This record gives sequence, C-alpha cells and structure tokens, in this order.
Amino acid sequence: MIPAADWTLCALADRLATGEVSAVEVTRAYLDRIEALDAAVGAYLTVDAAGALAQAETADRHRGEGPLAGVPIALKDIFLTRGLRTTCASRILEDFVPPYDGTVVRRLREAGAVILGKLNMDEFAMGSSTENSAFRRTGNPWALDRTPGGSSGGSSAAVAARLCAGSLGTDTGGSIRQPAALCGIVGLKPTYGRVSRFGVVAFASSLDQVGPMGRTVRDVGRLLEVVAGHDPYDATSAAVPVPGGLGELPQGADLRGVRLGVPREYFPETGLQPAVERAVRAAIEQLRDLGAEIVDVSLPHTKYAVATYYLVAPAEASSNLARYDGVRYGLRVTADDLQGMYAETRGQGFGAEVKRRILLGTFALSAGYYDAYYRKAGQVRTLIRRDFDDVFERVDAIVTPTSPTTAFKLGERLDDPLQMYLADIFTLSCNLAGLPGLSVPCGFDEADLPIGLQLLGRPFDEAGLLRIGAAYEDATPWKARLPGDPPEVRR
Ligand code: GLN
Repeated sequence: MIPAADWTLCALADRLATGEVSAVEVTRAYLDRIEALDAAVGAYLTVDAAGALAQAETADRHRGEGPLAGVPIALKDIFLTRGLRTTCASRILEDFVPPYDGTVVRRLREAGAVILGKLNMDEFAMGSSTENSAFRRTGNPWALDRTPGGSSGGSSAAVAARLCAGSLGTDTGGSIRQPAALCGIVGLKPTYGRVSRFGVVAFASSLDQVGPMGRTVRDVGRLLEVVAGHDPYDATSAAVPVPGGLGELPQGADLRGVRLGVPREYFPETGLQPAVERAVRAAIEQLRDLGAEIVDVSLPHTKYAVATYYLVAPAEASSNLARYDGVRYGLRVTADDLQGMYAETRGQGFGAEVKRRILLGTFALSAGYYDAYYRKAGQVRTLIRRDFDDVFERVDAIVTPTSPTTAFKLGERLDDPLQMYLADIFTLSCNLAGLPGLSVPCGFDEADLPIGLQLLGRPFDEAGLLRIGAAYEDATPWKARLPGDPPEVRR
C-alpha cells in the first residue's frame, strides 16, 4: 500500500474516485509514513489520526463526491481548524484550539479532503528556514541537516517526503515559493485577494496570501480551484471568477505565442549561486524550445524591495500582533497588575524574531517616523508595482530564480538576521506588487539539492502561470526525482 503515497494528488484523487483504492487505505498509508518517518523530518506539529480516519470513512461512504474526495492533505499551522490545536508555532498560542474553521479549511472539507494534521512553520510566519518555530526543527527531505525553507517549511517538507498528498501554506514575502524551491516541489502564491484569509492568523495584512503546495503543477492547480474565490468574510477577497480545469491542463502543450520577460536585476553579479544561475538559464532555453519568445526586461526598483518589505511587513505585524495580550487568545502569564500581565505574557510568549519585528514595526509607525518610514515604503511600493505594470505591457509572464541559493545548513544563518532576510530577495517584489507567483523545480546543484524557477504573472492570471509551468514540467525530468525516505527513528 505504501506506493500510494508516491502518487501525486491528481492521480490519487482519480484513483479514489474510481474506487481503485479507498480513502481509509490511503489515509492509513500516510499515517503510517508519518509515524515511521516524521521523527526524522519534523514536518508535523499536530497529527490528527482519529479525525483523519473519520473523514476518510465519510469520504468512502460518499465516493467521488467532491474534487478532493478522500485525498489526504495537511495544513501549515496558521490555518484555524475547528477543535484542532492551531499554534502558529508560537508559545503564545501553544494551547489555542479554534472554535471555527477558516474559509479555506471549510472549502477543503467540502471538497472531501482528509486533513492529516498541522505543519511546522516559522513562528507567526516570520522567517525563511522554519528555525523560528518554538517547537521543533524541520529537516529538508533531500538533506536532513539543511533547511526546508520557510516560513512554510513544514508544508514543503511534508509534500517532498510524501507525508501528505498536498498542503497549504501562506506567502507574505516568499513563504510558499522559497520552501517549494528548496524542497523540489511546486508552490503557488496567488494574486492578492484571490484566496480568502478568513480564519488565517494575520502577519502583514497588505501582503499575506494563502496558496497551494504540491508535487506537480496540476496538483497545485487542483488545490487552487478548491480554495480560491470570493468570500464575504474577507473584505480583501476579490470577486474574480476562478477558471476551471487547472488540475487537468493538457499534457505536452507548447508555448507558442507566449512572451516571457527575463529581468536583468534577478541575475546579479554576486550572491547568486552559480548552479542556480545555470539551471535557471537552462530552463529559459527550454522554455524557448517550447516556443516561448524570450525578452530581456528591466524592473529598476527591484533593489528597494528588501528595504521596503522590511518596513511594511514588521509595521503591519506590530499592529496585528497587538491582539495577543493574555486576555483574548492563548497564553496568559499572571502578574501583580494588568501592565505586568501584558509584559510577562508577551515577553514569555513571543520568540526573538517576533519581538525583533514588533520592535522594528512599532518604531516605523511611531509619531514622527511614520512619514519617513511607513509612508515612504508605501510610495516605493507603488514604484515597484509600476515596474511590473510596464513590463506586463510587453510580456505575459516573468521568469527568474526563486531563491538565490539552494537549501542552506540549519543553524548557518541563525545569528545573522540580515543574511536570513536575503533568502527572499527574489520573492518579495511579487507580494509588494500583489501579483501571482509560481515556483517550479528546474534542476539540482552539485550536492543534489533542488533548484526552483519562479514565474510571475499579471494579476489574476494564475491559469497562465500554471499553463507555462505545466508545459515546462512535462518537458523536463525533474518531477520524477524524489528524495529517498529518511531512516526510521522511533520517537
Ligand atoms: N521570510 C520572509 C519574512 O521573514 C517572508 C515570510 C513569509 O512570506 N511569511 O518575513
């Protein structure tokens, strides 16, 4: 039965629909793998074996009802799940059990999905390596002493290690695409407004977006179709129709008539690992062979993206995280008076990186500095968005590396926050501009670590990105390569 776990989400969904396998069998197979292998990988914070098997039994009674009927998936621990602990990998929410499901969770359940559990992440999604989790380290299934990326590192590791058939992450500055690239899987950050954030713990509200992660482009398309679409509970969600057929894109399509821009700012002289540059340049040639027209373009304000993001995101985080006051949610540390209770609760409940962001953000928003920092960052953000508007007059999508390097060693960047922030240098602009972005595997470095290709598209053109991604995936051998299973470690 184990080979079932090797199936892709789409293949599994189809086999479940015909009754070739039962949801209970498939769910048990995944739960067995988690039991045997996750002590080594460290992807899960909570495994809901009983809940998953109950959902699988229901799915077997209603075979074929719903596009994900019986398909076992898992969620970054930032999505509120009714009755199932949701920690955001923070001590401050360690025992928080939500009273309701977020919209995307509800939609997954309605589509028949089986929810295996909740996945590790950087605390409050702040980080690029999953090392900021208050609870556990996650290893990269390709090399367990390396990062799976972050902040959705549990989501990428679980998919790569076949500990779930697909997962959801969130992406504020790269947290779906960067871990997808580092684990050799596919990750999609949809357009701002495409997917509801109701019932998703907020980090930076003008940037946060929910998105799917999977083994293949079609897997991600199938998940997107289920979770995307307008939601009256999220005022920022857009009433733009979601195209169908994203899980059934035609095989072996070509790219004739597609114009792809290659921005020179994403191939800097220094900082780009040579193997990454080689693989991405080879991928661009492959896209040309598939019929795409390749155009050199420029996004001149790219150099301001890191500075702009690290004002906007911490500023919004400092405001969003004010709600963890020891009164309304999670941890409360009692003290002699109210101020003391706030200070103790937040002092003990938040980790170092979260505190750093709150301090930075509070400073950037404070009277007298607001104009110099937050307002200025907003203005630069407009310039970054205009760069993309200009380029999208001439091209259909933009091609870049997803991450400047392959997976780095755990611990290597922990003492150097700035070095850690640079892991997202190629992914941040997409969030600042509100665009969709897709990361697709495009090769391996000399240490056999995966490399990701990033495609950025026009607002709401996820379908266009998925079509290009699928054509590339079909023409290349990468998706067939999987990491071996880690040794079984008993807990
Ligand atoms: N690594 C970036 C940060 O630390 C992005 C995180 C994210 O997208 N959630 O903020």
